[in-house]
Amino acid sequence: MPACCSWNDVLQYETNKVTRIQSVNYGTIKWVLHVIIFSYVSFALVSDKLYQRKEPVISSVHTKVKGIAEVIENVTEGGVTRPVQRIFDTADYTFPMQQGNSFFVMTNFLKSEGQEQKLCPEFPTRSAHCYSDQGCKKGWMDPQSKGIQTGRCIPYDERRKTCEISAWCPAEEGKDAPRPALLRSAENFTVLIKNNIDFPGHNYTTRNILPDLNVSCTFHKTRNPQCPIFRLGDIFQEAGENFSEVAVQGGIMGIEIYWDCNLDSWSHHCYPRYSFRRLDDKYTNESLIPGYNFRYAKYYKENKVEKRTLIKAFGIRFDILVFGTGGKFDIIQLVVYIGSTLSYFGLATVFIDFLITTYSSTFCRSSVYPYCKCCEFCAVNEYYYGKKCESVTEPKPTLKYVSFVDEPHIRIVDKQLLGKSLQLVKGQEVLRPQMDFTDLSRLSLFLHNSPPAPGQPEEVQLLCKEAPPRSGPSPGWCQCGNCLPSRLPENRRALEELCCRRAPGPCITTSELFRKLVLSRQALQLLLLYQEPLLVLEEEAANRRLRHCAYRCYTIWRFGSQDLADFAILPSCCRWRIRKAFPKTEGQYSGFKYPY
Ligand code: GDP
Ligand code: ZN
Ligand code: ZN
Repeated sequence: MPACCSWNDVLQYETNKVTRIQSVNYGTIKWVLHVIIFSYVSFALVSDKLYQRKEPVISSVHTKVKGIAEVIENVTEGGVTRPVQRIFDTADYTFPMQQGNSFFVMTNFLKSEGQEQKLCPEFPTRSAHCYSDQGCKKGWMDPQSKGIQTGRCIPYDERRKTCEISAWCPAEEGKDAPRPALLRSAENFTVLIKNNIDFPGHNYTTRNILPDLNVSCTFHKTRNPQCPIFRLGDIFQEAGENFSEVAVQGGIMGIEIYWDCNLDSWSHHCYPRYSFRRLDDKYTNESLIPGYNFRYAKYYKENKVEKRTLIKAFGIRFDILVFGTGGKFDIIQLVVYIGSTLSYFGLATVFIDFLITTYSSTFCRSSVYPYCKCCEFCAVNEYYYGKKCESVTEPKPTLKYVSFVDEPHIRIVDKQLLGKSLQLVKGQEVLRPQMDFTDLSRLSLFLHNSPPAPGQPEEVQLLCKEAPPRSGPSPGWCQCGNCLPSRLPENRRALEELCCRRAPGPCITTSELFRKLVLSRQALQLLLLYQEPLLVLEEEAANRRLRHCAYRCYTIWRFGSQDLADFAILPSCCRWRIRKAFPKTEGQYSGFKYPY
């Protein structure tokens, strides 16, 4: 379409022309595919609620841990160690965490009591042993050590000597966590999780504690899935972990709260789903800092001396992870979804076109499927393919079509070596277009004589046996004996060196039909008048027009289609026969011109 020049160019609509194939098989395939696609699209729409606008949850979490644990501690007083029973309540074992959405429950601990700032021997770890003062360095601070070395090597006990340090003394002993864990009964503690959520885009707020909550409930995956009070032991059980094992070294446990909210009024649903997962690496080997622990101290004054009790606390950090979406019906989402699925309905077309193209017998005949020898299915597909597909050859200036009367097909000549007669170029064979017999009715207007007798081969029907007498010898490439040398300039001469036949035999110009279709002045005049009813044909111009019309009649007759006729080359015998009938009185004939 040319660039818009007027409103008429703009105000137009283009649509595709389609080929409807009346086939039960392909019709069935189309409907089956459409039904499958429609079912899938509808299923996805409903099951994933793709008609909703979804929004991520915003939430706040607050936790309360409850429970009492009885701990038997070994207390050393005046060199005597004795077990002491102590009760731990919430304030003793939970700590506020810096990070939100987390709480910590102590399950085990190591205590270093009565520490004060003075000089004392370092705890004998593997690298801390010394034998003399040379082994220690004044002012040295080892990151593993608990203080600054004074440069002296002093006895730690009867057998071992370590460097003296200035630190909280006595230095913390590098003992392993007690086993079993001291607060293993923390298993029975419960935690209440308050979780408020908000979907600002939908203007909807809710929380996980329902108005009718029974405060003495405990969460159970199936029996009580909405209770926000969790027994710590149950959390571990759900996650497939052993509480008393984790309690020794500590660990990190994730409590996931998943909100999948449907905020549509007709199917409102907005409840949390809880799940549990251990978040630290339980497979870390013992030496690679296992578990979860930290130190804290309680400070006090005794006889005006500042002292502290250092506690290394092992325990479980619970991280609460809240996620999920809230969705509400949104017409824009629905339209977008429907739009995005429409393209799937083109799948049937793609698939059936693929079948037709792949299994058309042209393809079957190729070496890819040598065994599929033009089966019926392929033949049918070839027919459909022919109806559906129109191939157009690139109209290159070098493109030419050639037709010989003794060959059933047409040849395409694309490359012609300079100076080589067109007759001698092999070219590529293409099927002759199917004859359109509707033209025959018009044809009969020109043919006054009776048609040739049926049952005889075409060539014999077309050609008269006896060739008319002619003057001078024909050129070497001529097979019919009627061709003449070209009179074009040297460089274009080879283009006209073409005979009507491939092998020696009678010439097409001697046929009755050639005379009637191509040379009949009456028929040609009729054709010209058919185009221009008021045409007045004057002598010289008349011959030129009749001649060109005769060329056209020949090419349409022998090449069967307008497209091919434009690039068809007339054999020399026909060209000169036509020129003899409708001669040019002055000057050279210009010959074939490239039409585009
Ligand atoms: P002119 O009448 O002096 O121009 O010379 P011609 O009798 O050779 O006719 C030239 C016209 O006929 C041009 O439009 C050519 O394209 C056309 N013509 C000549 N030869 C051929 C041919 O071999 N094939 C086709 N398709 N057209 C031809
Ligand atoms: Zn010839
Ligand atoms: Zn000939």
